[in-house]
Formats: sequence, structure tokens, C-alpha cells
Amino acid sequence: MNIQFFGAAGEVTGSCYLITVGKTRLLVDCGLFQGGRATEEKNLHGFPFDPAQINLVILTHAHIDHSGRLPLLVKAGFKGHIYCHNATRDLCEIMLKDSAFLMEKDAEIENRKRQRKRLLMIAPLYSINDARKTIKKIKGIRYHEIQQPHATIKFQLSDAGHILGSSILELWLQEENKSRKLVFSGDLGNYGKPILRDPETITAADWLFLESTYGNRLHRPLAETIAEIGQVIQQAHKEGGNILIPAFAVGRTQELLYFLTKHFHDWSIQDWNIFVDSPMAIDATAVYQKHASLYDQEATELLQNDNVEAIRPLLHFTKAPRQSSQINSIRSGAIIIAGSGMCTGGRIKHHLKHNLWRRECHIMIVGFQARGTLGRALVDGAKHVRLWGETIKVAAQVNTVGGLSAHADQHDLLRWLKGFDQRLRIVLVHGENEALEGLASAIEAGGEHLKPVIARYKEIMELD
Ligand SMILES: [Zn+2]
Ligand SMILES: [Zn+2]
Repeated sequence: MNIQFFGAAGEVTGSCYLITVGKTRLLVDCGLFQGGRATEEKNLHGFPFDPAQINLVILTHAHIDHSGRLPLLVKAGFKGHIYCHNATRDLCEIMLKDSAFLMEKDAEIENRKRQRKRLLMIAPLYSINDARKTIKKIKGIRYHEIQQPHATIKFQLSDAGHILGSSILELWLQEENKSRKLVFSGDLGNYGKPILRDPETITAADWLFLESTYGNRLHRPLAETIAEIGQVIQQAHKEGGNILIPAFAVGRTQELLYFLTKHFHDWSIQDWNIFVDSPMAIDATAVYQKHASLYDQEATELLQNDNVEAIRPLLHFTKAPRQSSQINSIRSGAIIIAGSGMCTGGRIKHHLKHNLWRRECHIMIVGFQARGTLGRALVDGAKHVRLWGETIKVAAQVNTVGGLSAHADQHDLLRWLKGFDQRLRIVLVHGENEALEGLASAIEAGGEHLKPVIARYKEIMELD
């Protein structure tokens, strides 16, 4: 039996691991490569294995860097089932369709250029129809239900506390008289994260495949971040403008709504109207509500709090484009949460156009902004930005609120690792080089004689 790494090896995105046990072949995750052009080109090369020969897929969570190549796999002949948590299934329905929609749109734009140059037309990587076929293959399960899809394979999922439905995978493999237990951390959330429970402790494994996204970093304390959000809201109220919050549709938007509800009185939220202006975020919020049984204790208690009733009339879920453009005429007292998270597309760009030049408005940045994005330009203090060919002056105040993260930092990764009560082999995945090396040294310095190795792209490891 062996494992081969086809993504998230020496990098963060493209998570995809092929496990062979006897005649059975299974994939853990099948994510899209995301980032620069060179990285994303890897999505176009097809799979270095035959998708028709894969018996099943187990998906750790719905993020596109874990699920985004599934429609490609199905398109290329994969016939089996895709197992994941029920909530992941519901989120995939939103996210895979959105991913396909963006690919169709990109291909359309590219083809318009190609038509002018009389070049051959291109097809999108996959279509919304491919995404639909993929969703039909997904089998949603619950945490802690042992599955045995093949004689040689048993597995169960536990809560990873990263996004709704995110899972740690425990996988038992049997080949003749040899048995091995593999654990995949998936993406781990940080302890004390809002809404979701803490990552569950796993105590035993022969092999652990551990994510390392923030393996060399520490997050600032959440309490400081929350205090800062409160300050921005109070300051903006004094100045009489709007607050724009670019936010990812899944996870971050729901956390913001959670904080606004929880601190309703402390932050005088009664003075505001809150707009969730993103169809995808609205759908994702409905999935979060549907799976409220997965909330942690604090969030479950908040559901019973009067604040929920108090905020309800102030919350506006604006799905239709007409409702969205009506927000443009509001001069003050609006908190607008919209995508995309890095201001590269989506409705947030319209709101920036209408608010950025106004000194009394605030832009609150609550997520990571990659280099080269409009969001990053704002964080870096740009005085002007270009929107649809128009130059817009940046007079609004840009507040960068760090500290909200969906991932465990080094401290939390080590804390989770301490839950294992036996010797195990650790393979580090899902991180940039500095993060992987930083985490490897921190684990080695832990004094438990653990010597992690770093997985390399396409490397095969025998699971002996
Ligand atoms: Zn993730
Ligand atoms: Zn990830």
C-alpha cells in the first residue's frame, strides 16, 4: 500500500492524494490549484492517473482548493462515489456551481478576444453541467459514522473546526495481513474560533498527514480583533458614513454576522442596517443555519439570545441585482458585506465605486489580500484605484483588522498534535516552504523524537 501526492505538496492549493491498497484506489480530496498563472496552469494538464480507475473519493471539506477538480475528475471518467460530511455536500452544491460559472465566464471572455484574432475557441475547464453531475455522486455522511466502502478500507470523519462540515479523516487500510491507520488533518480550524467547535482530538495513527498553512506563524488574539471591529463601527457611526466589508461568502460572512449579533448592544448595532449583498453568501448562510446542530456551545447559546430577534429587522439579504443597486443610494448607516473577499470581482466593486471617494466611509478588511488584488492595493494605502476604467479617489478610511483566520496557527497545530498518544510518522502537506520548514522544526524541537517529513509533488511513499 502506498500514497502519492498530486497537490498541496510543497504548496497550499490543489489538495489531492492517491492511496493504493491492493486493487483499490482512493483519492483524498481533489482540489483546484489556485494562485498565479503558473500554478493554475496545472489544472489544465489533466490528471497524472486514470480517473476511471479510481474507486472512491473522500473529501475533507468544501473549499475549492480541496474540491475544485472533482468535476474535472467526473468529466474524465470517474464512476465512484464521493464521500464527505452532509454540510460539505450542501456547501459543494453552492461552491462547485460557482466555480463552474466562473470558468464558463472566463472562457467566454477569452473566446471574445480569440474571435477578434481569428484564433481557435477554448472550452471552459468544466461546465455547470459537469458540476451538477459531480454533486449527484456525493454521498453525505455524519461525523463518527464508520464507513466501509470496500473490504480493504474503513474510515470515519471528525470535526476539524475549519469551515462548516470540515473533517479530519481517520482511514484504516487492510492489505493481506498488513493493516495501517492513516489520519488526514484536513484543514484545521483554530481553537476558540466563532460558531464552530474546536478540532476534535485524535489519539492514534501510524501515519499523519498534517496541514501546515500557518506552520511558521502565530495569530494575534481573537479578543483584540473583536475589539478592533467594535472600534471601527463606533468610529464610523460618529463620522456618519457607511462601512464596506469585503468578505468570503463561506465562513467569514457568517462569522461577521455572528459577531454583529453577539455584540449587538456593545456596538450599538441598532443604529445600522446590515446588507449581506452576495447571492453565494446568502446561500451559504442558509446552509450554516440548516446545520446549526454543528455549532459550538457559545453559538448555540447565542441562538437563544434576544439579540437574534433584535438584529433580525436590520438584516437585509439582497439577492436580486435590483435590491443590490438600491443600496447605492444609502449615504450613511449601512454595513455592507459583499464579495469577493479580495475585491477582485463581485458586488463589492460597485459599493467601492459609490463609497470609496467619501471621507466619512470606512472599508474594513477582515481577510487575507493577495498581492496584485484591489483589496491589497487598498491595504497598502493606494490614493487612487481604477474601477471599470474610471479613476476613483480613495478618501474613505481603510481599516485592516487582522486576526480572523480559518486555520490553526503554529501553536494550535502543535496543541492538536499533542493529542496523539503514540509514536507516529508525520508527513507535512498544504503549506508554502517556509511554513512547512517552520512547522517541521517546531515539531522536532517538541522533544518527542518526532521527525516530520515534507511531502513532494508526485512523490510515492510506501506505507510500511
Ligand atoms: Zn480550507
Ligand atoms: Zn485548504
